[in-house]
Amino acid sequence: MVNPIKSIYLDNAATTAVAPAVVEAMLPYFTKAYGNPSSLYELGQQAHGALTTARDQIAAHLNARSQDIYFTSCGTESNNWALKETMFAYQSKGRHLITSSIEHHATSHSCAWLEKRGYEVTYLPVDADGLVDPAVFEAAIRPDTVLASIIHGNNEIGTIQPIRQLAAIAHEHGVLFHTDSVQTVAHLPVDIADLGVDMLSASGHKFNAPKGVGLLYIKKGVRTRSFMDGGAQERKRRAGTENVPYIVGMARALDLALSTLTERTQTETELRDHLIDRVLAEVEHCRLNGHRTQRLPGNANFSFEFVEGESLLLTLEQKGIMASSGSACASGSLDPSHVLLAIGLPHEIAHGSLRLSLSHETSREDIDYTVEAIKQTVTHLRTMSPLYEDFLAGKKQLSAVK
Ligand SMILES: *Cc1c(COP(=O)(O)O)cnc(C)c1O
Repeated sequence: MVNPIKSIYLDNAATTAVAPAVVEAMLPYFTKAYGNPSSLYELGQQAHGALTTARDQIAAHLNARSQDIYFTSCGTESNNWALKETMFAYQSKGRHLITSSIEHHATSHSCAWLEKRGYEVTYLPVDADGLVDPAVFEAAIRPDTVLASIIHGNNEIGTIQPIRQLAAIAHEHGVLFHTDSVQTVAHLPVDIADLGVDMLSASGHKFNAPKGVGLLYIKKGVRTRSFMDGGAQERKRRAGTENVPYIVGMARALDLALSTLTERTQTETELRDHLIDRVLAEVEHCRLNGHRTQRLPGNANFSFEFVEGESLLLTLEQKGIMASSGSACASGSLDPSHVLLAIGLPHEIAHGSLRLSLSHETSREDIDYTVEAIKQTVTHLRTMSPLYEDFLAGKKQLSAVK
């Protein structure tokens, strides 16, 4: 239901609007320069040229070699490719993979797929802020460890991992390192050479490019077979006719994002902190999930005691606010998010969670309106909660969280 008065989109971690300049950059490649980049005549070569330019631009922005950028259909494909095919390619070295307990499902479900096929996976714990401990990571490395995959910026709680340090530890032990940078590329400065990773995933629709285009950076020398069999596209490593318009759009979107990165992250961070400070100060029995400062500029994630996340979301929607909850009911499961459980939240608190993800278009008025809406809604939902009644009557304690 769309509220006629307000429409405040605070779910930018789920997806973003395509920027008008991105649409404009893409259009010629649908109807005019529509050739197949593999065709040798002029029409094909126009498309090929656009592909090369896009790859060069993206590589320059991420400080990587153009030849090491491989275009995919999405962040999910990039993570699947990085994990499954790299583990397969290095089977003679071993079958052990290290990841964290707070990965996106594109990673964790790829790990589960590998486990069913005889690979071993270590899921590193995280602390209460969602951080992986580098010492714990190092201790998990074994002689048969092939690869580690740790998410850069967490899509639910926003915590940013010390990727450079983790990748360096992996390399000291001859282990390859992949990071899921889907939430960080175009939102934070991401310099691949500086991070020192062997593989990195990104996805266009998290930064104002269309859904259905992503990339995987694969450092020269990393052996990973093609995830798709077919033609010789992408240096014979990713078959399938290249999605030229979308790839052009992704390059344009990254260009746009990075041209204003400093101001944008600063404004978003200030608004995020305003939101966090107000909610924590003005709503009782509530906590912030994720690291207070080492977090994505646009991410705020709260848990409210005695409140169902789903009810909160539905009421906020009636007030014109689009956000996301920490329980996965929407995706057909009643289990609370594995990320919230991994940071030590009891089930009942994890169920009362709310993620708000800002963009450069979010205004202070949007945030103030949202805070008022949260206050009203939480108060109202609690009046209907038997648990809250018990709590007020002294029959129930607040849930203990570290
Ligand atoms: C959105 C997201 C993905 C999946 O990307 P798609 O392009 O939607 O497949 C993977 N990892 C993280 C951290 C994400 O936020």
